[in-house]
Amino acid sequence: MEIADLPIPPDLAASYARRGITELYPPQAACVEAGLLLGKNLLIAIPTASGKTLVAEMAMHHQVERGGKCLYIVPLRALASEKFEEFSGKGLRVGIATGDLDRRDDYLGRNDIIVATSEKVDSLLRNRTPWLAEITLLVLDEVHLIDDPSRGATLEMVVAKLRHKNPAMQIIALSATIGNPGDLAGWLDAELVESDWRPVDLREGVFFQNGIQFADHNREVGRQSKYEDLDLVLDTVEEGGQCLVFVSSRKNAEAFAKRAASGLKLANPTLAGYADKIRSNAGTDMGRILAACVAQGAAFHHAGLAREERQIVEAGFREGEIKVIASTPTLAAGLNLPARRVIVRDYLRFNAGEGMVPIPVREYRQMAGRAGRPHLDPYGEAVLIAKSEEMIGELFDCYIDAPAEDVRSQCANEAVLCTHILSLIATNFARETGEVLRFMDGTFYAHCGESPRALSRAVDRVLEFLREAEMITEVGEWLEPTEYGSLVSRLYIDPRSAEVIVTAMTGRKEYTDIGLLQLLCSTPDMLTLYVRRNDMYLLDRFLADHRDELWMEIPWDAGEGFDRSLKTALLLLDWANEVGEETICERYNVGPGDVYGVVESVAWLVHASRHLARLFAPHLAGPIEEMELRTKHGIKKELLPLIRLRGIGRVRARRLFNNGLGSLEALRAAGPEKVGKVIGQKIAAQVFEQLEGVRDEIEEVGEEQATLFRFG
Ligand code: ADP
Repeated sequence: MEIADLPIPPDLAASYARRGITELYPPQAACVEAGLLLGKNLLIAIPTASGKTLVAEMAMHHQVERGGKCLYIVPLRALASEKFEEFSGKGLRVGIATGDLDRRDDYLGRNDIIVATSEKVDSLLRNRTPWLAEITLLVLDEVHLIDDPSRGATLEMVVAKLRHKNPAMQIIALSATIGNPGDLAGWLDAELVESDWRPVDLREGVFFQNGIQFADHNREVGRQSKYEDLDLVLDTVEEGGQCLVFVSSRKNAEAFAKRAASGLKLANPTLAGYADKIRSNAGTDMGRILAACVAQGAAFHHAGLAREERQIVEAGFREGEIKVIASTPTLAAGLNLPARRVIVRDYLRFNAGEGMVPIPVREYRQMAGRAGRPHLDPYGEAVLIAKSEEMIGELFDCYIDAPAEDVRSQCANEAVLCTHILSLIATNFARETGEVLRFMDGTFYAHCGESPRALSRAVDRVLEFLREAEMITEVGEWLEPTEYGSLVSRLYIDPRSAEVIVTAMTGRKEYTDIGLLQLLCSTPDMLTLYVRRNDMYLLDRFLADHRDELWMEIPWDAGEGFDRSLKTALLLLDWANEVGEETICERYNVGPGDVYGVVESVAWLVHASRHLARLFAPHLAGPIEEMELRTKHGIKKELLPLIRLRGIGRVRARRLFNNGLGSLEALRAAGPEKVGKVIGQKIAAQVFEQLEGVRDEIEEVGEEQATLFRFG
């Protein structure tokens, strides 16, 4: 099917033609035939890189041409920016919603396409954002993630709410290959477009001893080193390809990258340039090891990496200079880095409580799907490694030939329901128990006919909890949110977290930093760090001296949960006391990416607890607001007056302070020239503009900086 023949705006067709895209891929043509441009709902279940995004884009332009407005929901913030960039510059107004979760972002409604995460859309719904009612096309990217235990229910509820609001809206859902696409399509009243067509031929096989067995042929792999996995890499690099190697842990990823580096032994000025860049920013041993590997053409990739490190590695791989990346499986979903050969080296993974378990088929498919770069590789290869001859057949049966798992709703989970039911009541979606249940009828859970009684019992228990917590009240048969309930819904935190925070705050006389941080780290909304045996000394020593500063009683059966909350809180306290990144990483055995993760995760909770304090413990609101700025910027209290100035971050604030310029008065007294010597003339001029005229502006900037980000 020719793109020129389609009823899409000529500018869009021209932009495709410029990129050499003139004809639709077969699954794309199937989407058009199924009614893509006629407003029909579609569930498109086709492999990665077979052109799903392009299909969605054509439908969006088609809608906008007819006066519509489109919402594109993605599962990760990183993907939101990627799609935003991709859709921009093609004639439509594109907006991205990734910011604060308690704002309505009215200005976003001016756009034709809005890209957002499901959490952000949920928060926009809770804050009654008016333009959501104008959406005429909803695109759901990676809709199979409805299955995700921690975030899937949010996506499901958001879809149910949006459909409730805009019943006539078109829905285009993009999915990986799943076991029960019919169920999902049925729920969405969508035509199913399913295909396993790929733009590059994918060969899947199992390596054993010195060869790979594919379904229809074998391929020999020469012995070049002591290690089979390394041989598989060298084999591909020799023929001009690149490799992605999936392993089970960060340690394994680092170890494999070292092994690959010493096997590849590449050296050129470009690689040396990447390595220098990584080394000059590296504050940790991990960063230095990464630099050494990259200098020889290999890298590792996991959540512990700093953002810049990750960017350098990804760019180096895209440019073809870095030949191999060893990665943890959690990154398979987000990583958009195709390679000639994907090696799934570890298909067992450690799960807490279960030990080593095989990864799901869907995850294997996601990794294997990265094999083969369109237009660059003649084919892609996905290779599993067998440890014995018998395993070859098993790996074919369990992965290569196995059907993908079904996706299941996560909505019956009470913990998850709690936050969503509160939001239904707080935003008037449901005003009595019957309406809550009727609303739940529109979920995927109900569509799949899963025990309606279990759901109604769970709903009853949740309503009971919300009544007891005084987040809702009953007036006759009507359910109404209290001020507290509305606030919790708008702040977008789990009602159970709010209860933990409010209970500890009320009656609390004195504020302590560690008390607040440990409290927040013990709520279900907080990501906490894994505790190793050798962390216990640090935790015990802290408790011996500072037990009184905690706001929560240490439970008599305090177990891992408490240790994790304390370890995470201590890391955050170090961060807010300006302890260097390298020391933090060493002290807590984490990478810079982990520090960023917990800072981001706590930031929103500190923000929320300030609002809760205003309602329940006003005397704590001031100190909590200070902590909000301190955790956001990683600064001691003494830098607070400076950080409120635009252009001044933690590094410049510290420099000013250490030069005796720790207050606005001191800056004024010193004058622009002296201040310029410390932070540069340009920034100094900016600072003095703020100091001279507009005091209000400073306050406003302070408030702006105080609003923090989560998910998004
Ligand atoms: P997916 O969303 O399924 O991963 P994309 O839509 O991002 O896939 O497409 C993958 C790549 O293929 C992109 O670089 C895109 O520009 C290109 N592409 C998509 N459709 C076509 C087509 N019909 N002809 C040629 N290239 C295409």
